[in-house]
Amino acid sequence: MITEQYDVVVAGAGGMGSAALYHLARRGVRVCAVERFGIAHDRGSSHGDTRIIRKAYMEHPDYVPLLHRAYALWDELEAEGAGELFARVGLLVAGDPNAEAMQGQAACYQEHDLPHEELDAAAIAERYPSLAFPEEWSGFYDPLGGFLRVEDCVRRHVALAQKHGAKLYTGEVMLSWRREGEGVVVETERRRLLAARLVLATGAWAVPELCRLGVAACAVRKVLLWYQGRGVEQYARGAFPCFFIADGEQYFYGFPAEAPWGLKLAEHNVSHDPVADPLQLNRALTDGDQSCVLDFIARFFPALQPELSKYAVCMYSLTPDKNFVLDIHPECPAVVLGAGFSGHGFKFSPVVGEILAELALEGDTQHPIEFLRLSRFAQRRS
Ligand SMILES: Cc1cc2nc3c(=O)[nH]c(=O)nc-3n(C[C@H](O)[C@H](O)[C@H](O)COP(=O)(O)OP(=O)(O)OC[C@H]3O[C@@H](n4cnc5c(N)ncnc54)[C@H](O)[C@@H]3O)c2cc1C
Repeated sequence: MITEQYDVVVAGAGGMGSAALYHLARRGVRVCAVERFGIAHDRGSSHGDTRIIRKAYMEHPDYVPLLHRAYALWDELEAEGAGELFARVGLLVAGDPNAEAMQGQAACYQEHDLPHEELDAAAIAERYPSLAFPEEWSGFYDPLGGFLRVEDCVRRHVALAQKHGAKLYTGEVMLSWRREGEGVVVETERRRLLAARLVLATGAWAVPELCRLGVAACAVRKVLLWYQGRGVEQYARGAFPCFFIADGEQYFYGFPAEAPWGLKLAEHNVSHDPVADPLQLNRALTDGDQSCVLDFIARFFPALQPELSKYAVCMYSLTPDKNFVLDIHPECPAVVLGAGFSGHGFKFSPVVGEILAELALEGDTQHPIEFLRLSRFAQRRS
């Protein structure tokens, strides 16, 4: 077995690990990543072409300062290579004004000065005649919203990290890690890695570690669906934005139609199929996977006669409060945890990468992450 020495080892090179790798490498430290599959693979949580990005944050207004930094870092990342990463197409957030998501969006606008337009149902119908929403619904148009090309973002982070000297071990599984002195020993099938710090960014595979630390996390199966069909051009990029729709407390979201797959749609909180082992994730389309989305299309996107063109199966790693876990490992200060991104983390990945790098190298971060630390669960238990 080969033994190698690094300042930092990053376990997992998905959305968050690839960003951490880049932020560590650009600080000039000796860093490597161990990734069990390939780069931008489709077995974890960072695939399926696109992810929504937005600054006005209905989940928790404390995310907004992190998003200011994420936006600046996305701009930098995009400028450092060729090809669009961030499609600035705007976002329509609409639905029942009493829904928690709509209330959260309004509360965020009260707390943070962010550009937006308030729209009633008539204004939405005038602007987007291919939508049919109930009269009592309302919405917000967010000009800062849009989507990220998820696999390209991961590839860009990894490519730039390698340019800064990072090493990458793909197709290699981290079998174990343990504390040794002030540092860690990481074992894979092929090598023993001695490092001062370990960043754990293993996505759904980090759920057991969160549970062991007393966080009742779980991985759930989520399906992404793409539709072509008559009328799809009425929802095409250019005329149509990204959208997040609160149908009561059932949330749906999607992306304007683009060639070759058409309109992409998914439910956010309707299904809740737990995944006991991410390696055993059912990646086939099941009978029930489309039903609520097709019903949603029939009610609110009446111009489309949907024909399924593609699907993808992915995992959310949910924490009890649906907020991330970013912290130093409570049992081993040489280990940094970035996990539990709860189905809304990708837009943050560059700032998460920066935070993980700071926690690994300096033991703390300049960013306001108190609400994301593990101690919040301990407070709740006591
Ligand atoms: C369907 C879906 C829709 C989403 N929509 C949005 C959205 O619109 N906007 C948004 O911001 N976020 C969204 N998210 C959330 C976002 O995509 C995730 O929060 C983010 O991608 C998680 O990244 P990650 O690095 O934690 O996990 P992953 O990208 O899965 O990375 C973990 C990596 O660790 C590797 N790994 C695990 N164990 C080991 C090991 N022992 N050894 C080596 N490698 C290992 C895995 O192979 C994997 O590559 C969505 C998620 C899903 C599933």
